[in-house]
Amino acid sequence: MRVAMIGTGYVGLVSGACFADFGHVVTCIDKDPSKIERLNGGEIPIYEPGLDDLVATNVREGRLSFTLDGAEAIRNADAVFIAVGTPTRRGDGHADLSYVYAAAEEIAGLIEGFTVVVTKSTVPVGTGDEVEAIIRKANPNADFAVVSNPEFLREGAAIGDFKRPDRVVIGVNDIDNDVGQRARTVMGELYRPLNLNESPLLFVGRRTSELIKYAANAFLAMKITFINEMADLCEAVGADVQQVARGIGLDKRIGSKFLHAGPGYGGSCFPKDTIALVRTAQQYGAPVRLIETTVEVNDARKKAMAGRVETTLGDSVAGKTVALLGLTFKPNTDDMRDAPSLDIAPALIAAGAKVQAFDPEGMHEAAKLLDGVEMKANAYDAVTGADAVVIVTEWDQFRALDLDRVKGLMNQPVLVDLRNVYRSEDMLKRGFKYSSIGRG
Ligand code: NAD
Repeated sequence: MRVAMIGTGYVGLVSGACFADFGHVVTCIDKDPSKIERLNGGEIPIYEPGLDDLVATNVREGRLSFTLDGAEAIRNADAVFIAVGTPTRRGDGHADLSYVYAAAEEIAGLIEGFTVVVTKSTVPVGTGDEVEAIIRKANPNADFAVVSNPEFLREGAAIGDFKRPDRVVIGVNDIDNDVGQRARTVMGELYRPLNLNESPLLFVGRRTSELIKYAANAFLAMKITFINEMADLCEAVGADVQQVARGIGLDKRIGSKFLHAGPGYGGSCFPKDTIALVRTAQQYGAPVRLIETTVEVNDARKKAMAGRVETTLGDSVAGKTVALLGLTFKPNTDDMRDAPSLDIAPALIAAGAKVQAFDPEGMHEAAKLLDGVEMKANAYDAVTGADAVVIVTEWDQFRALDLDRVKGLMNQPVLVDLRNVYRSEDMLKRGFKYSSIGRG
């Protein structure tokens, strides 16, 4: 199959490279000249484990290419994917669909032969209808179908998630007529290599597919928020949230994933998708109050995290040096979108602290977003002279720090572990003032 992928970001680049690896011929298109230039020069513009090798192999074997001008690729494509960003629209919390609609306009004039236009971006219910209307209006004779195929990959584990997904959701309308059948055949063919892993392809209606993506993210965000509130309760009553999580997670109806208490969820998806779902639900007069509360609780939690430094220090941070270990919203990515560090660092600076930080992959992006934070070359440089160290992101290298060395480099040994990486007893034995999340 011939695939055109519009948008070569975290989702478009991974999806494009994986489809190429399945044997399809893929052209990744982006309007950002520096991104395309870097990709054509053999450089990967994002950090995602394994992606460099996957891209290099498929470029070498002639199945994957990158371009600023997608016209030819779109004309020749069996499937054109839209994988552009859908950030929160300023002011009202709805998803900003301007990039999706712009892509639809670009596709419209170029369609030749039967083409499946696939929305891979996370888009609110009804967006597929609008994409179809845009194309139909601009090119009334075009032979095409608009399909929803939301992406569930996780940054940091994206290739494995794409190649061995729990399921692939495909939303096709008019499945009983000829257009729907042809669209289904193309989508089935694209994902056929997954048959080997027995990953289910779930064919549903287009609106249902669009909603599945939001429902999944909202549920996961709610699960994290639930355990975060349990963590606060554990602290109040002297219980241990990790044991609570294990105790409930072993129940198969609950499941053990996404029960790690922490500083509140961030990232490129949960914050924007929960708010967008809330807005859609309000718009249709069917409010999702659990998710409204989830959004509120999580926002407040991220803002409250800086206060934990003062509580642990037993003093104001004014005039003190605080070291942040980890800045990205989770390990194994350079993605800084809505990361908890973006709340924590400014709050500490506003309270008068000097903040220095280290992140293995995120500092380039973080430096643009965190004014006044001094970036250091490694974890030990970051903790040097600090009155408190905060573990914000649980990168592997922060799980096995040389704690005696850390203690020796610090001004005073205070560690705020927002990811429960260390054990309280060990830390106290080593002479640290130590606090973590939900462990009494
Ligand atoms: P991103 O910002 O990393 O990438 C989007 C890319 O699209 C950018 O490179 C941008 O330059 C390009 N672009 C925008 N308009 C374009 C146009 N008209 N033509 C060509 N290129 C264009 O975004 P992302 O993280 O890959 O997310 C894309 C979508 O996938 C979003 O809807 C997101 O919610 C969803 N999603 C993301 C993840 C994730 O983990 N990042 C997971 C699942 C779903």
